[in-house]
Amino acid sequence: MNRRTFLQAVTLPCMAARADAAANDARYTVEAKFYEKQPFRKIRCKLCPRECVIDDRERGYCGVRENRGGTYYSLVHSRVCAAHIDPIEKKPFFHFAPGTLAFSIATAGCNVNCKMCQNWEISQVRPEQVDASYLPPGNVVALARQNRCPSIAYTYSEPTVFLEYVLDVAEAGRAAGLKSAVVSGGYIQEEPLKQLCRRVDAIKVDLKAFSDKFYKEVVNGELKPVLNALATIRKQGTWNEIVYLVVPGLNDTEQEFQGLAKWVKAELGPDVPLHFSRFHPEYLLKNLPPTPLETLERAKAICDAEGLHYVYLGNIPGHPAESTYCPKCRRAVVERMGFEVRARHLKRGRCEFCQQTIPGVWEV
Ligand code: SF4
Repeated sequence: MNRRTFLQAVTLPCMAARADAAANDARYTVEAKFYEKQPFRKIRCKLCPRECVIDDRERGYCGVRENRGGTYYSLVHSRVCAAHIDPIEKKPFFHFAPGTLAFSIATAGCNVNCKMCQNWEISQVRPEQVDASYLPPGNVVALARQNRCPSIAYTYSEPTVFLEYVLDVAEAGRAAGLKSAVVSGGYIQEEPLKQLCRRVDAIKVDLKAFSDKFYKEVVNGELKPVLNALATIRKQGTWNEIVYLVVPGLNDTEQEFQGLAKWVKAELGPDVPLHFSRFHPEYLLKNLPPTPLETLERAKAICDAEGLHYVYLGNIPGHPAESTYCPKCRRAVVERMGFEVRARHLKRGRCEFCQQTIPGVWEV
């Protein structure tokens, strides 16, 4: 289902939904879960590390949360501006329900501004600037089941800024036997992240670089809180994979790859899947070329040599590094071609050839 057919098919026809959007603003509005009241009807948002302090009638940096008389509200609960049925490999998750489909949703908004954003038309706008449909949690679950998706993915923009909706959908999904998988930049405070970990089954973090400079100049964020978030996810025991988009000339030095590999091994262990993904010119970085294959292969070689077990290359369909190899016998246990799973040699999470345990959430 593409976005057009989805928008035609959901409970309310899109045109009608738009016509009464203003009148029904209330149905998208729920009180925010993480904030503190301040003097003079100000609030301090405690959802992400930015900690915006917001005056009455103003919004935070992400543009989807508003102070109304000293109470803080999310404006995007059930306000879905993108929905697709995607292979879970597209997120990418390689050790979570391989070969299955994920019912994937997003609202407007993001708490950073990456110059290479692939979804800037929805992430960098306010909710009123993009078409949306009213999709309460029960409807998301019904659509996922109707379309034979065993999981719901929260993706495309930044699920942190629509956290209240994620928590509610994930709860409804769990009650109906559906898993939830989050695709996030990991720029989130510890307490909301812990709640998220308890409610969902997998979190993929886009680690944008391994340098403060890149985070400051290209992302408008910070590295440290994202590393803290990765450590928290590990402690909570929620399945986690990491993606690192390699941008030529900006985050592709051997020193960074080395630092990343050492940090991941020491703090998260050698079994967390790490995906190096090829950059394509987008948004504000259209002047840069796609990532050379040699750079990606160098990144993988450095991480392999450091002892990480599952290092993948993405956006290069047909490359052998799309498949999962057993770290003991080196045979391919999940063979992939692009987003397609071609063969699977796993039995109850173990390599069929040598019985080595391969970490992941293999059955859903
Ligand atoms: S979630 Fe939004 S409002 Fe809250 S601190 Fe982050 S950017 Fe600011």
